[in-house]
Amino acid sequence: MRIAIGSDHRGIRIKESLRSYLERKGFPVFDFGAYNDNESVDYPDFASQVAEKISNGDFDLGILICGTGIGMSIVANKFYNVRAALINDEETAKFAKLHNNANILVLGGNNLSQESARKYVDIWLNTSFEGGRHQKRLDKIIEIESKNKSRYNVVDILEGYDKQLAHLVSLELKREQDSIVLIASENIASKAVLAAQGSVFTNKYAEGYPGKRYYGGCEFCDDIENIAIERAKKLFNADHANVQPISGSAANLSAYFAVLNPGDTILTMKLAHGGHLTHGATVSIVSKIFNVVHYGVRKEDGLIDYEEVERLAIENKPKLIVAGASSYSRIIDFDRFKNIADKVGAYFMVDMAHIAGLVAAGVHPSPVPFADIVTSTTHKTLRGPRGGFILCKEYLKDKVDKAVFPGIQGGPLVHTIVAKAVSFREAMTEEFKDYQRQVVTNSKVMAEVFMEEPFRVISGGTDNHLFLLDLTGVGITGKTAEKTLEEIGVVVNKNAIPFDDKPPTLTSGIRIGTPTITTRGMKEKESLKIAEIIKDLLLDPYNMNKKRNYREEVIDLCKKFPIYKDLF
Ligand SMILES: *Cc1c(COP(=O)(O)O)cnc(C)c1O
Repeated sequence: MRIAIGSDHRGIRIKESLRSYLERKGFPVFDFGAYNDNESVDYPDFASQVAEKISNGDFDLGILICGTGIGMSIVANKFYNVRAALINDEETAKFAKLHNNANILVLGGNNLSQESARKYVDIWLNTSFEGGRHQKRLDKIIEIESKNKSRYNVVDILEGYDKQLAHLVSLELKREQDSIVLIASENIASKAVLAAQGSVFTNKYAEGYPGKRYYGGCEFCDDIENIAIERAKKLFNADHANVQPISGSAANLSAYFAVLNPGDTILTMKLAHGGHLTHGATVSIVSKIFNVVHYGVRKEDGLIDYEEVERLAIENKPKLIVAGASSYSRIIDFDRFKNIADKVGAYFMVDMAHIAGLVAAGVHPSPVPFADIVTSTTHKTLRGPRGGFILCKEYLKDKVDKAVFPGIQGGPLVHTIVAKAVSFREAMTEEFKDYQRQVVTNSKVMAEVFMEEPFRVISGGTDNHLFLLDLTGVGITGKTAEKTLEEIGVVVNKNAIPFDDKPPTLTSGIRIGTPTITTRGMKEKESLKIAEIIKDLLLDPYNMNKKRNYREEVIDLCKKFPIYKDLF
């Protein structure tokens, strides 16, 4: 039970007395001031420090004292999840806890004796919250707070301009909150990332690069982009970074044009085996520009067939070999790829769109030492804004920059670059490393549940944030599975499995990924529970009773792990 205590100059006498009293009783107490009763100070400065610590969970309980207690109460109660009670006798001390579960006790110090103050604090500490009908009332307070909180968010601002759109944004917020999202390419960006994208850089044209722009007024764009570049380089230990690609696809196109000419041959992973559209699938413009040769995975074990890669490389003499995938659950051997590329004199590119966050955290080996060019998105495991970036060796720097601008793109999205810079810094923290480790742990826990008949996990398991589930033995298509799970609020995507005999509109499988549930704070226990719900429902996909019960369980779980803590 950590207690935060604070007062203004008028409350110092009582504060000092309570602090030593509580410390003698063995409570860890932290004193946020004021310390000098000869000097007049402003109570909001102290109330806000204590209330913030209670609001963000750093401390369990708080005590505030000013002359009457009124100013302190007013300030403290402006903080989310703070219930500050101004009490003046034994009865209010008791009921502040019993009925209102007050987490901050406020005292008026002017005419209060030290003995009474201690007695009130004792009563408050020793009384337990009654719960029951009073919990319902506290829930209503949280509801009011959440509503008011959202006054400062996009929904509320939009409401003043376009009610219809504001409503749709609020529905999406609710959908994300009330769903277990297992789409492997999605994540939940921080509020800082969201806020950065709504900045005034939306208004700014900045064609060119820092120091070499085609527009005036770019001095702050330059600083922002330089910071983003430096952070990307540091995070991935790269020679050079280009942070302008508007998406992973734009990054890939730019990378191709940095080193290839139309008609050149590229060797990439087949879409049907886990590659991406931009790796030259027939429906992609890439297939119309380049001569595309595909490698895939082995039928027996679902692993990349490195021997096939080598054979195809020798046969076709590609100018570029691409490693990287959208639905491959195993570690990719970049060293092996690099050797093959060297053997045939090809450039080696890695598209780490899916695994960038894992790579940043050292949970997946980095492609940077091996690849000439590395492309990525920022919005998947990396948990930044929707966008892309490119890393490359020093010698390709000018070619890559020219390919992005003016080769493929016009003005960069500077507001998104601000958000990229935010996410690069977030990715440097120890917290982020723990997060990525947990992402993989959760993925392994879930995959384990499906390791027995009639289910089959492609490649027999996972080393990363996702796995592919083959539903052939269950007798339902990926499409049916996706729809069934959506009915209980579990969102996955149907996904072709290697050697799938069903068309991509049906598919034999689903892809399951753990980035978003892990961002919400879910761990092994919750992952296991979710996997078991999925398993049970897919074996009995038309059972309405089960669906009703599971929908409730999903909502409960979502409530326990809000997507943005102070919005729900
Ligand atoms: C998601 C993805 C991309 C494309 O990203 P977009 O931002 O959607 O264009 C490229 N490559 C791979 C491997 C991906 O998974």
